[in-house]
Amino acid sequence: TPLVTIANVDMRYGGTGGTLAVKDLTLDVGKGEFAAVVGPSGCGKSTLMKLVTGLHMPQAGTVTVNGERVTKPVSIVGMAFQNPTMLPWRTTLDNILLPLEIVEKHRKRLRANKAEYVAKAEKLLETVGLKGFGQKFPWQLSGGMQQRANLCRALIHEPELLMLDEPFGALDSFTREELWCVIRDLHAAQGVTIILVTHDLREATFLADKIFVMSSRPGRILQERRVPFPRPRE
Ligand code: ADP
Ligand code: ADP
Repeated sequence: TPLVTIANVDMRYGGTGGTLAVKDLTLDVGKGEFAAVVGPSGCGKSTLMKLVTGLHMPQAGTVTVNGERVTKPVSIVGMAFQNPTMLPWRTTLDNILLPLEIVEKHRKRLRANKAEYVAKAEKLLETVGLKGFGQKFPWQLSGGMQQRANLCRALIHEPELLMLDEPFGALDSFTREELWCVIRDLHAAQGVTIILVTHDLREATFLADKIFVMSSRPGRILQERRVPFPRPRE
């Protein structure tokens, strides 16, 4: 069953006569699937992410997440974007707890049992190779470390859907491939549905079960490919 369905969506910025960012976009991503979206800069990848998360509303067509038409920001989603956006006055750990403070359901649980969530955040930090860095402030971390912490923040509320928009962008190739393995293992272990936007085809084939190729204009899906062979698992 699909978790995310985009059907015949048009999205234009700036009203009539503005930029047509995506046109007649149709795709679906099944529960537990790892999908990648690739395509050149400006083809509408970020727009697609914002449509799924409910940050933008389409002018035509429908976006459905978990059987519900998206009409406002979706709370079952974890997001990590290219530029880490950690609050500089909070420690890394308190940044990771941030999504819990936004959703009322979690806010109550956080108040009732903070220790449980702190332990969880620390476990996530360990998973991404940042054990013991929770008390550092973001500006005390390198860019790559901030991106890792960003991933922890996207995962703290155990989202059903994880949206990753070039989350490995500014990383050196060694750290990047290390993080690929972290993400791949997370997907294998937790069964979370993932949509990854990237312009790195190697990254897409390494990670995803299914790859959508978008054309430069006007943001249609050109091809849908199943990754044809099992990926290496070390
Ligand atoms: P990608 O993520 O693939 O680079 P985007 O979704 O960011 O593509 O952009 C798709 C098109 O929409 C581009 O032509 C871009 O310039 C335009 N666009 C994106 N965001 C806005 C915006 N807020 N206002 C106007 N045009 C935008
Ligand atoms: P990405 O690297 O994710 O493709 P972009 O560099 O295309 O992002 O855009 C960065 C941000 O600026 C996005 O949030 C996008 O919505 C916005 N943006 C992109 N193009 C335009 C535009 N022509 N006018 C206004 N905002 C834009």
